[in-house]
Amino acid sequence: VRKDPDGRFEFYSEEMSRAVLDAVALEKDLKEAVHNGVIVPHYQPQFDTVSGSLRGMEVLARWPLTQGGMVSPGRFIPLAEETGLIHPLMEHLVEAVLGQVWRWRQEGLSVPPVAINVSAHQIRRQGFFDWLFERLAHYGLGIEVLTVEITESAFLLDFVHVRSILDSLAEKGVRLSIDDFGTGYSSLSYLSQLPFRELKIDRAFVSEVDLSRRQQAVVKGIIELARALELEVVAEGVETESQLSELNALGCDSVQGFYLGRPMDAAALTDLLRAMTSP
Ligand code: C2E
Ligand code: CA
Ligand code: CA
Ligand code: CA
Repeated sequence: VRKDPDGRFEFYSEEMSRAVLDAVALEKDLKEAVHNGVIVPHYQPQFDTVSGSLRGMEVLARWPLTQGGMVSPGRFIPLAEETGLIHPLMEHLVEAVLGQVWRWRQEGLSVPPVAINVSAHQIRRQGFFDWLFERLAHYGLGIEVLTVEITESAFLLDFVHVRSILDSLAEKGVRLSIDDFGTGYSSLSYLSQLPFRELKIDRAFVSEVDLSRRQQAVVKGIIELARALELEVVAEGVETESQLSELNALGCDSVQGFYLGRPMDAAALTDLLRAMTSP
């Protein structure tokens, strides 16, 4: 502990103040990036496990830097949530996605549901969904063009309140998907009471599904549970042929992961849609 020029003690080490400065700089850069519309949607395809047809895609935010490289969403999404920048950021991303879906449709491409990640904060904000329905109407698109992915943590604190929000979204036709399944708490007791249509098995379970009998038993159990609740099942983070064939054997509906397709920009996804649409 040293004294600064005003005689106050400095409680932070050099290293910590560096981290604080970095965080402040990141927040300033993020604000600028959000307001300049620099952050763009990339799309990761999801395939039917058996037929290999494209059955969906997930929107993942990408922040390209002018000096090259990208800031990963793992770094800026939590900050965007803390600072409230998540709201303008998601409006910008979703606007870009809806415009893109509209153009794909104009071209006559068949477009499977596009999944967006909606954070716990946004679920509680009625304004976001009002805005979303207004934008869908603007493009002449129905709600069925989207899937809304929500993580378990979204309903940890005020389950009853969040359940009523999800019920009313489901009534309006929103296709709800539970993300990162198995990584949160109390998933089983909550799951049966919520109007989900899809369950995404977290990569943590997929990574050893072909190697460990225990992981295999867990994935089998999740798929059986999903069947009983009439949920579609997507496995995330599929990286190998052997994981894919194990998931196929276990009866998983669809798969998403680097082995099948990385997150890609709109132009690359357009090529994929054209390839899958043409006979
Ligand atoms: P998530 O929703 O679980 O997204 C899946 C993450 O797994 C993505 O990371 C994706 O690039 C990565 N991934 C996909 N396939 C594989 C694979 O085969 N192997 C491995 N190792 N990873 C794979 P990403 O893009 O870095 O996103 C991280 C998280 O940031 C997402 O996790 C999501 O929670 C959040 N996020 C991303 N975009 C948005 C957004 O637009 N809005 C919100 N609210 N959150 C977002
Ligand atoms: Ca997700
Ligand atoms: Ca996930
Ligand atoms: Ca995740």
